[in-house]
Amino acid sequence: AALMGESLTRGWPDTLTTGAGHPVGDKLNLQTAGPRGPLLVQDVVFTDEMAHFDRERIPERVVHAKGGGAFGYFEVTHDITRYCKAKLFEHVGKTTPIAVRFSTVAGESGSADTVRDPRGFAVKFYTEEGNWDLTGNNTPIFFIRDALLFPSFIHSQKRNPQTHMKDPDMVWDFWSLRPESLHQVSFLFSDRGLPDGFRHMNGYGSHTFKLVNANGERFYCKFHYKTDQGIKNLTVEEADRLASTNPDYAIGDLFNAIANGNFPSWTFYIQVMTFEQAEKFQFNPFDLTKVWSHKEYPLIPVGKMVLNRNPVNYFAEVEQLAFDPSNMPPGVEPSPDKMLQGRLFSYPDTHRHRLGANYLQLPVNCPFRARVSNYQRDGPMCMFDNQGGAPNYYPNSFSAPETQPQFVESKFKVSADVARYNSEDEDNVTQVRAFYTQVLNEQERQRLCQNMAGALKGAQLFIQKRMVENLKAVHPDYGNRVQALLNKYNAEAKKVKVRLPLWSVHPSIHPSIHPFVHRKQILIALVIL
Ligand code: NDP
Repeated sequence: AALMGESLTRGWPDTLTTGAGHPVGDKLNLQTAGPRGPLLVQDVVFTDEMAHFDRERIPERVVHAKGGGAFGYFEVTHDITRYCKAKLFEHVGKTTPIAVRFSTVAGESGSADTVRDPRGFAVKFYTEEGNWDLTGNNTPIFFIRDALLFPSFIHSQKRNPQTHMKDPDMVWDFWSLRPESLHQVSFLFSDRGLPDGFRHMNGYGSHTFKLVNANGERFYCKFHYKTDQGIKNLTVEEADRLASTNPDYAIGDLFNAIANGNFPSWTFYIQVMTFEQAEKFQFNPFDLTKVWSHKEYPLIPVGKMVLNRNPVNYFAEVEQLAFDPSNMPPGVEPSPDKMLQGRLFSYPDTHRHRLGANYLQLPVNCPFRARVSNYQRDGPMCMFDNQGGAPNYYPNSFSAPETQPQFVESKFKVSADVARYNSEDEDNVTQVRAFYTQVLNEQERQRLCQNMAGALKGAQLFIQKRMVENLKAVHPDYGNRVQALLNKYNAEAKKVKVRLPLWSVHPSIHPSIHPFVHRKQILIALVIL
């Protein structure tokens, strides 16, 4: 509160004005015909303020709506120019300004920070060659590997379309029907599913990317940020307590640490895979539900990321901060990863909707260290000189900007049949088994099963059963432990009859309670039951 008071009393101009800059004489009393009203349309002091107030909200992000941000720098500590020609890696000691936004995923903008959910970990590097947005998470993997499933996946984690409540049936129905989610779901219900604020977690670019060096040689790559603060997680009890007593816990923790000069930092690493290694890799190296083993592809240190400045204004600098994985400087390119390719479209698309066609002109998004020069013009909220009198068509006989052949993307061969390839069964268990048996210790395994059963118990029995079968395919011990806990919970629930599931008539015709569904269908359902 003291920090906030300080920012509110700083020396702002002392004359109050309307949005159009006219000095205001009275800000406390409406202009009315007589002391009891009615009020007058000519009261511009009122209409100016009220009309703007009516338009204060922009659409909240469909995912990652609740978050906190900060600014700082990235510094190169190790030379990786043999892999990447991007100027930000040019020499050891080079620093590049950055903006970072951390977030939860499924909750709305007002939701609690300490819920079990992956955390967004998005970094914008303001480079001289344009902005680079590494739009990652605090886990190296994701729930799905095919971007066509993304809207359905997110719908299943959000609110039931009828009740507007979170619905365990939807969550676990989707996850159990798509076993490629097992790896990420297992991470989520492990201790790291409840990170202690944003400072004590790792970040990952998650996708496979392509690096290109000055000789045009290409490599596949993954990005990792390891927290220098050390990993720290909340217990379930502490997270629950904070959700009700301090729902903005993570945003506050980050803000206060920076305000007190305790600047958080992360060490940045890459993993590198050659094209030849990618051909022979035991898995699809572009599958976002899998990692690259550290033993086979060791972490190579690159640099350090430090956050040392808080936003001056949350809306301007964090709510409007727009990340886009298709923002890549020369030397960083996409891999064929189907999820990444889907995001290359989806992110800028959503920003054009949320912030408008000229969102890249907003101070926090504009590539201020590069000079934008192109043939795009006009559009709503065009903020600067719209590139003055420069030609707005290409080619033209008068002046630049001109294309630069040295910046053409690297060439690569694709020769395949165009089809909709089913990737459902691309080994959904091997890495999850390694996680369960080798990464977690016995106490961590117990907590994972406890956390998972505690959430899965809210879903209907047939969904629980399908999920447990998937866990057994990872490891019988995993499935059996979760089932044993569910048996206990289900027996308790039977006694108190806790829940009548909404879509309960029959799993295959769940919308049968909907008035537009033919009555005959409901009758058939009842007969089946
Ligand atoms: P390693 O033993 O070299 O790495 C294991 C990794 O697991 C470490 O990075 C560690 O992070 C991380 N870890 C520890 N506890 C958890 C947890 N509760 N949730 C998520 N991550 C955790 O093994 P491999 O590279 O051979 O991979 C084995 C398995 O480890 C994988 O199948 C995967 O499940 C998991 N993993 C692998 C990662 C990778 O990029 N290779 C990254 C994260 C997990 P830290 O060093 O910070 O403690």
